[in-house]
Amino acid sequence: MFIRESSRTVPVEGSFDVIVCGGGPAGVIAAAAAARNGAKTLLIERYGFVGGMATSALVTPISEFRINDKQHIGGIPFELMERAADLDGAEITRRSGNFPVNDEILKLAAQRLVLEAGGTLLYHSWLADCVVADGRLTHVIVQNKSGRVAYEGKFFIDCTGDADLVRAAGFETTKSDVLQPASLWFQLGGVDTDALAYTFGDAVDGILPISEQIRGRLTELNEAGVIPNFGGPWINYFFHPGMVSINLLREPTDASDPEWFTRTECSMRENLDLIIRVLRANFPEFADCWLAKSGIQTGVRETHHIVGHYQLTRDDILVPKPFPDTIAKGAHVIDIHEPHTNDQAELVVLRQEYNVPLRSLIPQGSINVLTAGRCLSADGPGFGSVRVMATCMAMGQGAGTAAALSLSSGSDINQLEYPTLREALISQGAIVDFDNCSSDQADPSTVSSSAAVGGRAR
Ligand SMILES: Cc1cc2nc3c(=O)[nH]c(=O)nc-3n(C[C@H](O)[C@H](O)[C@H](O)COP(=O)(O)OP(=O)(O)OC[C@H]3O[C@@H](n4cnc5c(N)ncnc54)[C@H](O)[C@@H]3O)c2cc1C
Repeated sequence: MFIRESSRTVPVEGSFDVIVCGGGPAGVIAAAAAARNGAKTLLIERYGFVGGMATSALVTPISEFRINDKQHIGGIPFELMERAADLDGAEITRRSGNFPVNDEILKLAAQRLVLEAGGTLLYHSWLADCVVADGRLTHVIVQNKSGRVAYEGKFFIDCTGDADLVRAAGFETTKSDVLQPASLWFQLGGVDTDALAYTFGDAVDGILPISEQIRGRLTELNEAGVIPNFGGPWINYFFHPGMVSINLLREPTDASDPEWFTRTECSMRENLDLIIRVLRANFPEFADCWLAKSGIQTGVRETHHIVGHYQLTRDDILVPKPFPDTIAKGAHVIDIHEPHTNDQAELVVLRQEYNVPLRSLIPQGSINVLTAGRCLSADGPGFGSVRVMATCMAMGQGAGTAAALSLSSGSDINQLEYPTLREALISQGAIVDFDNCSSDQADPSTVSSSAAVGGRAR
């Protein structure tokens, strides 16, 4: 059944050069980049803080800034990490290039980054719709406590993670038949972290390796029907003695289906309560643990992808391509979580970094809409690697800079000169060389189709 919503006139609350929707890792950096490149920029975020999955879902290892001692992500993403480190909220010297961050401090560091760049923030506002005229997006419609209001823009970047703006504008999107599962991440206090490190081996770059003991016992409990399926567990260092940050709960869902995702949120809360009791009862290191915090939402790995000018594939991850429009790099394992078991569907460790082209961020048919972050155009394995936050941030710098340059040169996004974009990105610290191409860079000793590998996958 359908009803007709009455058409209405909405006030235009402001006019901007670039409007970024969604203030996650990609959106924060996109907004800062656009503003620093001279665009009057608005960042719209549904919550009262920025950071996306890192802050709302407590996903606090930011992966990866370097591989094999070589840094492949610099520029504004690395500056954000430095700002968080200056506030004692990040450790940015870890060899793995996987940087633990304190979610509370990241909120402040990221907010300052946008405001000091000259950007405008609009919190507590849900991107609801948009207006398209002659193929060009002209306004976004936002729902907030003022009602329904519009913001006029010349260029738009969809960083909602779920391609909300791209879908509202009517561009084609796609969704995998088997989405990566969602996970409710949590932080515990009162853990005997000294004993944990001793029993389970020293933390490798801040991530305590998956304990065979913990995984083995949890598997037994899972097989006995006491606990539901789980991932890892990945038990992460969290800055203070006695505290850890844990990724363990896992469930299949589709977060773009609100009714299904509501059921997921409800069962995750029940499972969190259960798992804390199980940890206390089964592992002496957790005997006195208490729940310090859980994500304000269950973490979402994947929903919609744009259909872009270029789809990043497994082959582009394994054999880096010399894309002339390289705007970001990635080096994370191809890391596909299995929704219906306790394993990884696929896990391939890489030997070197690969390149991400701007064309993977441009929806087909778009003139003035770009994306950045996890809704980019990628196949399953490509997405399994490129989805991590340092790479999403680097995409943000590429997209924000491309939007500002398109405006200043009077071109649409498809006419932008790649050398001009490259020059601007390099002058602002981004690492966008594309001569790093070798033959197959998968490390064959690490290719796995089932078991989780300690300390690497999330
Ligand atoms: C359980 C889990 C574990 C992970 N482990 C790691 C890891 O170890 N290391 C790593 O680097 N990455 C990890 N990731 C992946 C990483 O967190 C995400 O891929 C990344 O955060 C994507 O960034 P993004 O900016 O594209 O989207 P998001 O982080 O999802 O940010 C989207 C932003 O848009 C806002 N938004 C959405 N819709 C709207 C709307 N309609 N209106 C207004 N605002 C909106 C959201 O509130 C949010 O702030 C993990 C993810 C999950 C879920």
